[in-house]
Amino acid sequence: MAKSKSTKSETYKNYINGRWVKPAAGQMIENRNPADTRELVGLFPASTDEDVEAAVAAAREAFPKWKATPAPKRAEMLFELGRILTARKDQFAKDMTREMGKVLKETGGDVQEAIDMTFYTAGEGRRLHGYTTPSELQNKMAMCVRQPVGLCSLITPWNFPMAIPSWKMMPALICGNTLVIKPAEDTPLSTVNLVKAAEEAGIPAGVINIVMGTGDSAGAPLTTHRDIRLVSFTGSTETGRIVSTNAAQHGKICSLEMGGKNVIMVMDDADIELAAEGTVWGAFGTSGQRCTASSRVVVHKKVYKKFVEKLTEKAKALRIGNGLSKNVDMGPVINQAAVNKILSYIEIGKNEDGATLHLGGNRLEKGDHKHGYFIEPTIFTDVAPQMRIAQEEIFGPVVSIIPCRNLDEAIEISNGVKYGLSSSIYTQDVNQAFTAMERMYTGIFYVNSATIGAEVHLPFGGTKATGNGHREGAMASSLDIFSEWKAIYVDYSGRLQKAQIDN
Ligand code: NDP
Repeated sequence: MAKSKSTKSETYKNYINGRWVKPAAGQMIENRNPADTRELVGLFPASTDEDVEAAVAAAREAFPKWKATPAPKRAEMLFELGRILTARKDQFAKDMTREMGKVLKETGGDVQEAIDMTFYTAGEGRRLHGYTTPSELQNKMAMCVRQPVGLCSLITPWNFPMAIPSWKMMPALICGNTLVIKPAEDTPLSTVNLVKAAEEAGIPAGVINIVMGTGDSAGAPLTTHRDIRLVSFTGSTETGRIVSTNAAQHGKICSLEMGGKNVIMVMDDADIELAAEGTVWGAFGTSGQRCTASSRVVVHKKVYKKFVEKLTEKAKALRIGNGLSKNVDMGPVINQAAVNKILSYIEIGKNEDGATLHLGGNRLEKGDHKHGYFIEPTIFTDVAPQMRIAQEEIFGPVVSIIPCRNLDEAIEISNGVKYGLSSSIYTQDVNQAFTAMERMYTGIFYVNSATIGAEVHLPFGGTKATGNGHREGAMASSLDIFSEWKAIYVDYSGRLQKAQIDN
């Protein structure tokens, strides 16, 4: 156990039925700064079944009243929440950098995404459109409206600890659902900050509940509890499979956002300077720990050498350290398990026949890096498409460069993984851009930028092993997760009319 530095740390509680309460079993989990593990960020509840039971009971109790609250009234609270988040953005970004390491510029972006999602969803309070449609019979009206699904459990990862909870929480709330959220045990503080802001914004007791702790103890019961109607999960594909199996066995609606093995294609007519700049941002931003991280780059042979040179030059210039410092470009990875996993993939890459470890490959353990989980930006060149480093999600600052001969081959390689989250192409040729756009089977596609940079009003999610067909963000997508359609027929003919029979 690392020794504590004398920095400010607090003991936090779960939020259940409008009160901040200790976990039933009294156990706590330490949350430490991954840039300097001597710094204790806080002690957070290690919740168990009993806490989940209390939180679900609170959500159940609050549901009828929240459902009956007019959506424009619910929206007013979200507008207020958006204002509070905006006022606290700098503080929340600092808290986030302390608990998960990404640089302040990026944690500010994470909070901003939550702000955008909150205001955007609040606007939906006066829409939540259904539709009318002609009936096949006379003197009969047909329409449909959205209704809340009921109690939702939200299970979230650590890499976007305020943005991802907000993608789920805001649409759940505007649709009239009540919820229990279980944030990742590595990043509870950012979700606590979001929930505290929601409390301050006037969202009534029991509507939002937070239960913190491990996936096994606090997460799993939220996937099986009889009163939970919907499980919304973001995390790894492995955990997502467990979550969806549980949810299916208990007859729940389940939305899954999972892993990725995203790709940038660099064609021979690309602006190489721009492509290299985009790759550095896509591969090494958040130390490569984004579901949309650019972890493969498929490069046309004609520009391969030049691209690798430019990329290397830019990757070498990255300053690595504590994300709270303005002079740092890349922070640590999240924890020791992540260090072990990333280093093991670097070993795998070194042993793959034909691949070359071109840059980096080491943990940084001296000087300012001594007490944190820092790994150098790492580039493998001459990677073949089927190698494990080109197929599996590494979730660290490691990028594989794969040569290709033409666009067809680039697309085939790019589609040749089990995931389908994000892809991109650098080219000046509109025909190549549109061909790739059409043929890439991914949820997100970029032209002349890296694989990251989603905006809240467009659908977010992926194909194949990345998801199960749902999308977050964009109103229609997230409302479709968090509401169910009710078809309504009003017969004003005054007689029995039989559909399909009387016409
Ligand atoms: P994990 O799958 O490890 O964890 C996600 C959440 O699930 C955490 O809160 C975790 O708890 C919880 N959990 C773990 N086991 C269970 C269980 N048996 N039942 C219920 N909940 C459980 O993912 P990470 O947090 O490590 O996040 C990284 C992954 O998330 C990457 O694969 C990344 O690609 C993916 N991701 C996908 C996104 C997308 O939109 N497609 C966006 C962001 C990330 P605990 O706190 O114990 O870890």
